[in-house]
Amino acid sequence: EPSTPLLRLQELKIAYGGIQAVKGIALELHAGETVCLIGANGAGKTTTLNAIAGVLPIAGGDIHYKGERINALPAHRRLRAGIALVPEGRGIFTRLTVEENLRMGAYTRKDAAAIEADLERVYTMLPRVKERLAQVAGTLSGGEQQMVAIGRALLSRPRLLLLDEPSMGLAPLIVEKIFEVVQSVAREGVTILLVEQNANLALEFAQRGYVMESGRITLTGSGSALLQDPKVRAAYLGEE
Ligand code: ATP
Repeated sequence: EPSTPLLRLQELKIAYGGIQAVKGIALELHAGETVCLIGANGAGKTTTLNAIAGVLPIAGGDIHYKGERINALPAHRRLRAGIALVPEGRGIFTRLTVEENLRMGAYTRKDAAAIEADLERVYTMLPRVKERLAQVAGTLSGGEQQMVAIGRALLSRPRLLLLDEPSMGLAPLIVEKIFEVVQSVAREGVTILLVEQNANLALEFAQRGYVMESGRITLTGSGSALLQDPKVRAAYLGEE
């Protein structure tokens, strides 16, 4: 193995009460990679992402980040360490303005000048968002809200960006725009773990992918290999 992975999950188990949603999975991400986690509804993808972000406790196994075991590290400390989550449903503060939402992303930081500089970078990356800074976020379109959620995550200066179904409920043209933004974030060197039900989109975007079924990882490979895999095509790309 050439280097310590940025993130490593080993035998990870997550339960809701007595129900095991994630049943001992292994996953690795190296710095700078784009990786996706695909699978049907209820496979455990969101659960896995939330556990990495620390918003959900784990029932067994290990999470290592930059070589350190972070199993018990609270979510805000993980955020400060560079793990940012763009949650399912976006998690926008609907009654706050766009600018207030963005600034929330920097709540663990104290470097005021750098925060302003990062805001400017986000405005450059997301011009549509910049036009609406004073608007109440609840009145934005779904696509605009997704942009704000990504922008907010960037305000924490992430090393690892966890994206939960950014395409959900959005028209194809908007999805394309969102993925252009995510691609430019990746090009800046941010490591990305993307959860998607849209397997085609996810596998075209990501260098590598993992397939999750009923709480287990059943298949892994490069994005292009998984796109051509007959099992993946039959189960997730709507082919016989
Ligand atoms: P989706 O794309 O629908 O979000 P998913 O792959 O992300 O699917 P999860 O949301 O992680 O799947 O759900 C995995 C399993 O855990 C499912 O069986 C789900 O019903 C269960 N589950 C999720 N959240 C809870 C909860 N808060 N309480 C109890 N069970 C839950």
